[in-house]
Amino acid sequence: MSVPPGSTIGILGGGQLGRMLAMAAAQLGYKCHVFDPGEAPCAADVAANFTRADFTDRAALEAFGRTVDVATYEFENLPVAPLEVLEAKLHPSTRSLAVAQDRAAEKQFIEDCGARVAPWRAVASLADVEQVVSELGTPVVLKTRRYGYDGKGQAWIRDPAEAASAWAAIGEEPAVAESGVEFSSEFSVVVARWADGRHALWDCPENEHGDGILRRSTVPCSDAVALQVAEAREAALAIAEALGHIGVITVEFFASQTGPVVNEFAPRVHNSGHWTIEGAVTSQFEQHVRAICDLPPGDTALVGSGAVMDNLIGDDVNRWPELVAQAGAHVHIYGKGAPSPGRKMGHVTRVRP
Ligand code: ADP
Ligand code: MG
Repeated sequence: MSVPPGSTIGILGGGQLGRMLAMAAAQLGYKCHVFDPGEAPCAADVAANFTRADFTDRAALEAFGRTVDVATYEFENLPVAPLEVLEAKLHPSTRSLAVAQDRAAEKQFIEDCGARVAPWRAVASLADVEQVVSELGTPVVLKTRRYGYDGKGQAWIRDPAEAASAWAAIGEEPAVAESGVEFSSEFSVVVARWADGRHALWDCPENEHGDGILRRSTVPCSDAVALQVAEAREAALAIAEALGHIGVITVEFFASQTGPVVNEFAPRVHNSGHWTIEGAVTSQFEQHVRAICDLPPGDTALVGSGAVMDNLIGDDVNRWPELVAQAGAHVHIYGKGAPSPGRKMGHVTRVRP
């Protein structure tokens, strides 16, 4: 049942995750076909084929499906219904996508798996928001149910008087309102799962965010986080299992005083797993290819004693001349053109011997 090297992997979405996936796939002898509505998505630069079409274009998806042996996605906000034309070849399936792309469905799903999330409610009006604020107290964070990423579509309510401005700030969209979690740190569990239930886990990165965007991931995590890893892994595996997920899935956690609290999950390779390219024997990208093509799991051990990954956000990428001159700095530039504020343009990983 395995999809052998020489076959073609279709990738829905043409961003940096697709780009790094295509590079890992190429190492194993696969060709990639990128599907994206953009004019020049950065993944297309390193792929054998590129289809430029809208994600709702069923005819284009069908034609794309005929050219690939297996398909996957690197982007979470794909409309699910048109993907049915690809379903037989699609890993992970649309189930993982459908749950992950609606924050309310996602939180319910996580709770149903027996894992902890911050107290939350679905809201659809200012009256709902005010009600939740009085029930849960502040701080509360509003997050649009759909299309949020890198902290976009979120607004904090630190005082009940801010309910109306926060509701306006997220565009009065259906949302979830959740309690602010007091955490000592954030970390994630990156896991790959195979169709038969086998799985592979890496060391957990400890993640630092600024303005809702990941800035730095460090492995190994601190001792305080390490105490919460076993419980977090159990939660992540329960989620992957319940989804019947095939491929990499990443679950983000808050390390709270009472244990790990799930923030959200992404049904795909993840920024907090980029350190695995140089820092682990098998990267998250290669492992995803192995899982969706049903090759055996690769070794996930650290190659050194640890690694630090720093994102290059916006103008940070202009530091490339200095970075490429540094010994031991693995510089990745995504080829996305001119930097704009808050945009992920590249990253740098340093492996500790
Ligand atoms: P995104 O989809 O944009 O990554 P997240 O829900 O992960 O959205 O939020 C981004 C960041 O905002 C988190 O990594 C965390 O730093 C902060 N954050 C989000 N929700 C909460 C919360 N309930 N309590 C405390 N911090 C939060
Ligand atoms: Mg997040």
